[in-house]
Formats: sequence, structure tokens, C-alpha cells
Amino acid sequence: TPAKARKPAWLKAPAAAGANYERLRSTVRKQKLATVCEEARCPNIGECWGGRAAAGDESNEEHTATATIMIMGDTCTRGCRFCSVKTSRRPDALDPEEPSRTADAVNQWGLDYVVVTSVDRDDVHDHGSSHISETVRQLKAKTPHLLVEVLTPDFGGVVERVNEVALSGLDVFAHNVETVERLTPRVRDRRAGYQQTMNVLQAAKAANPALVTKSSIMLGLGETDDEILQTLRDLRAHGVDVVTFGQYLQPTKRHLKVVDYVTPEAFDRWRDAAQALGFLYVASGPLVRSSYRAGELFVKNVLR
Ligand code: SF4
Ligand code: SF4
Repeated sequence: TPAKARKPAWLKAPAAAGANYERLRSTVRKQKLATVCEEARCPNIGECWGGRAAAGDESNEEHTATATIMIMGDTCTRGCRFCSVKTSRRPDALDPEEPSRTADAVNQWGLDYVVVTSVDRDDVHDHGSSHISETVRQLKAKTPHLLVEVLTPDFGGVVERVNEVALSGLDVFAHNVETVERLTPRVRDRRAGYQQTMNVLQAAKAANPALVTKSSIMLGLGETDDEILQTLRDLRAHGVDVVTFGQYLQPTKRHLKVVDYVTPEAFDRWRDAAQALGFLYVASGPLVRSSYRAGELFVKNVLR
């Protein structure tokens, strides 16, 4: 129905503010760092960069500022039908200076928790696993207290590549299942598979059991409750520790249409359902992205 197609009020972004947010924003201008937070105009920037809920969360004294940066270029070799990243069969070659330059910039920036994400590079011999691993090593060497999460591609499902990244020194290994099994061929690039994602997450945990593993599900693509529950059970069965839920939003008219806008109450129910299945922590809400307040949640639930 047309009413359903209109964006509900709960998808309005809160205004970004706060001392920590202002400090990070003024510093990032001086770096040549491209953050997903800014480039995607993420609605959570005030909360993530501020390191706490923007409003009404006075009990939380922690300031664990989180930001997401993208490496390996702005052009992907895949074309998922929910994603607005540019696509090409042959993107620019990887920049061998990028790991070191990124680590310098993050060091000067004064972040507590960084999420490193990337496009998929099926054109590169190791799918970028050595480049990602080197970035993690440089980040940790230059800023030892920094917590590092990598939101990884699937490395074509090659276990050796997964293991290399799992053992690179990162704290959280994230790889997104994105949607339920039935919808995967419609939503994701044909080279991405539901079972392959499960296998990648399981392999990372097997290679390094100390890792926290994490995955994200977009809601609003026509999935049923039973299918979501099955996805959660499959993630748990593959040792995944953390799950996040967010609303799928259509980036342009050429992308998949939103089937429904899931209510904030339903997102709360999914958080409870996931917690009952044994996930270590869960972020769930219409505007939640996989990196939403990731540092704050990690510190609260893993370090304490
Ligand atoms: Fe940045 Fe992710 Fe937070 Fe958005 S949710 S502001 S992309 S860290
Ligand atoms: Fe977008 Fe990732 Fe799919 Fe590439 S692989 S099109 S970056 S979601």
C-alpha cells in the first residue's frame, strides 16, 4: 500500500552533537581519512563519535568513540542489489601505502574503536586478505590501546584467507549475512552465499577462538519471522557472538524496494529473541548499522 511506502517518523535522524563528536569532527578534517560515517551520512554519527547515546543516557559514563573507515578503494567488484557502492570488474590497484597511512591518521584522530570495512576485491589474488591484515597490524602497532573490528568480505570462501585475517590481531571479526537464506540470491551478489557466510564466520572463530564474531541482518526485505529466527539459530550454530538488526533503506530507485518498515517495537522483540538464543550482545533498531555504537557495546559486554 502507498502508506507503507512512505518513510515513518522513527527513521528521522537525531541531530549530532556532543564534545567528543565535535572534537573528532574537527580533527578528521585535517586527516585524509574517508569515513563511512560521513560519506554515507550515517544518522548515528553523534552517538558513535560521541561514544554514548545522544540523549537520555546519563547513566553511561563511558566515552568509547567508534568510527568506520573504508579501505581498498571506493569501487567494488560485486553488485549487491541493496548497496550503492560503485561497481567495476577492474577497480584501481590496491595502494600499498594505505595500511600505514590509515594507521597514522587513526592514531592522530584519537579514536577508541575503529571499524575497518572494505569493498569486495575479487580481482585481487588473495581477495585483499593480506592488505586487510597489514592494516590491522599497523593500527595496533601505532595505537596499542585501539580496539579494532574488521567488517570483512567473504574472500571467496577461501579458509586460508579468512584465517589470515582472523589471526592478524583484530578484536572483532564481522561478516554480514545481510538477509535470510531464501532472499539471499535476490539481495546479494551471486558470488555471495548464505552458507558461505556461515562458513566464513565459523572458520574465523575456529582459527582464533578469542575473537568476537559478529553479523548483521537487514529487515524489511520481505523476510518472515520464522526465517529470521532460523537465521539467528544458524548464526549461533556457527559460533557467532554478536548480531545487529537494522531497517533496509533503498539507496536509489535502481535498488531493491523496501517491502515493509519494521516498527521500533518489533526491533525490540528481535533484540530480546536474539538475547534469548545466547548472543553476547545485540544492537537492534530502525537506524542501527552493523557498526552502531560498536565500541561502547564491546567495552560494556566483553571487557567487563
Ligand atoms: Fe559510523 Fe557505523 Fe556509527 Fe554509522 S553506525 S556513525 S557508519 S560507526
Ligand atoms: Fe556493496 Fe559489499 Fe556487495 Fe560490494 S560486496 S556491492 S560493497 S555490499
